[in-house]
Amino acid sequence: MSIEQWNTTITPTWCPGCGNHSLWNELKRALDELKIPAHKILIVYGIGCSGNMYNFVKTYGWHSLHGRAVPTAVGAKLANKDLTVIVVGGDGDGLGEGMGHFIHALRGNANITYLLHNNKIYGLTTGQSSPTSEKGFISRSTPAGQIEIPVKPLKLALAAGGGFVARGYAGKPNDLKELIKKGIQHRGFSFIDILQPCVTFNKVNTYEFYNSRVYDLAANGYEPTDYNQAMLKADEWGDKIPLGLFYHDSREPYEDDLPQEQGQAIVARPVVKRNLTKLVKEFM
Ligand code: SF4
Repeated sequence: MSIEQWNTTITPTWCPGCGNHSLWNELKRALDELKIPAHKILIVYGIGCSGNMYNFVKTYGWHSLHGRAVPTAVGAKLANKDLTVIVVGGDGDGLGEGMGHFIHALRGNANITYLLHNNKIYGLTTGQSSPTSEKGFISRSTPAGQIEIPVKPLKLALAAGGGFVARGYAGKPNDLKELIKKGIQHRGFSFIDILQPCVTFNKVNTYEFYNSRVYDLAANGYEPTDYNQAMLKADEWGDKIPLGLFYHDSREPYEDDLPQEQGQAIVARPVVKRNLTKLVKEFM
């Protein structure tokens, strides 16, 4: 296949220069290189500019409710464990409305890949402060500056038990593609926080901002096996911003401990007809 074959007939509507274009391309390239058939992939999308990707990738897709992409994906994976299940969503959707789901999916080690399009702003609703906006950030919802400190997605993921915790950047497409491939191949919850400049509404966290700060962990001899070291690196944000795989372990995924997940995928089993009349009567 080629990456064009993952396109639909709809042309992306994102602003010219938006980081979402890079994420879209690298996700398609990763799927292409992994040679996973399109009918074996489900991508669940959150609400936001990133969620518009629902229209632009030719796999199974589900455009979920705001903040509910992760639990929808977890349910789909449990119903059909033969699917490769990916979540695409933004920082507002995932760490605002969906924060609780994110933490519990990490604790359970649900066997899905989560691509967090982190532009540090609500873009689709035209520029409000999000959970990852920096303290002091001026936006339409915070004209006097953001009061709260930002959520640090990688520290949160590590604290909640994440076994594949990584950061990519839309401005480093090849590295991003490789991270996405590794995330999909990981058994368990793989979380990739992706720095995705919103060129229209976030005039602070721009390509220039990131280009002068990002560096690659692996190229600096970092090994993603030490939890405490990963926590320290996840806290690093300022003149230097690390990219790559922060932490990796092989804790068994959620489905391995569920008796009903053993054997055939649930959707592949024969339907057993049961008379539910007695059960229904109990609730009447
Ligand atoms: Fe991208 Fe921002 Fe435009 Fe949304 S508003 S498409 S995030 S540049």
